[in-house]
Amino acid sequence: MRIVRTVEELRRWSREARRSGLVGLVPTMGALHAGHASLIRAASAACEHVAVSVFVNPTQFGPNEDYARYPRTFDADCALAEAEGASVVFAPPVEEMYPAGAATFVDVDGLSARLDGASRPGHFRGVATVVTKLLIAAEADRAYFGQKDAAQVAVLRRMAADLRLGTELVVCPIVREPDGLALSSRNIYLSATERAQALTLSRAIRRAEELVAQGERRASELTGAARSIFAAEPGVRVDYVELVNWATLEPVETAAPGSLFAVAAWVGNTRLIDNTILH
Ligand code: AMP
Repeated sequence: MRIVRTVEELRRWSREARRSGLVGLVPTMGALHAGHASLIRAASAACEHVAVSVFVNPTQFGPNEDYARYPRTFDADCALAEAEGASVVFAPPVEEMYPAGAATFVDVDGLSARLDGASRPGHFRGVATVVTKLLIAAEADRAYFGQKDAAQVAVLRRMAADLRLGTELVVCPIVREPDGLALSSRNIYLSATERAQALTLSRAIRRAEELVAQGERRASELTGAARSIFAAEPGVRVDYVELVNWATLEPVETAAPGSLFAVAAWVGNTRLIDNTILH
């Protein structure tokens, strides 16, 4: 497996690789876990050539967020990527993705201000910008993302359609710990107490799923039930509990197949998210 540091080298690799099959790209910020592994595995199963990008993207972090202390585990990331079938790890320095004086950003109007975008201003602008740069650099046939970041998926689908980027976006299911906690690179920030409290998110999601299975469709009932689960755990502070249309991220009053039920909450100083797509 090769480690590539420049856009030019990645593009050269991709153009050569595409002569003998599909190229898949898995964008990540590193600190890879079984959730990322599932994306790389899905890419390797469908594409002859797979690149995994490992880049902690500064523009998607707010000024008081965890950019500086975000976990960086590059050697382990490379080992995992290789074991799951990647041919290349693309790990550019910041100046390669944002050359001195860089002034071009991708803003997905409306969508970028909803859900995580409401509590993290500028976050989705950073995400859409870096993913656009990665897709242009990799010239991939397919790019793989996790449903874990469901609002991000909505923003990126809109962006890829609007810019006619020509890369197919593939969305993979959420990988969870056996007790239900969605895997996240940020879970390592949690103390033992917080790790237990963090289960509130997946419990709230499961409760909404159960109610829907019993025939409940009203957003007010679903979000209310989830909120009472959060209320029973004083160590956890809710950011949002919402039922939205997955394409537009606009709130809906009634659940329909494909509606996104999403939660975000602070557990101590760590912000976690979880969601389910209702059937
Ligand atoms: P990140 O490194 O956190 O930016 O995530 C890179 C990709 O991995 C994103 O598309 C995430 O949605 C995906 N991902 C993160 N956690 C999980 C998970 N638990 N299950 C599935 N995909 C995930």
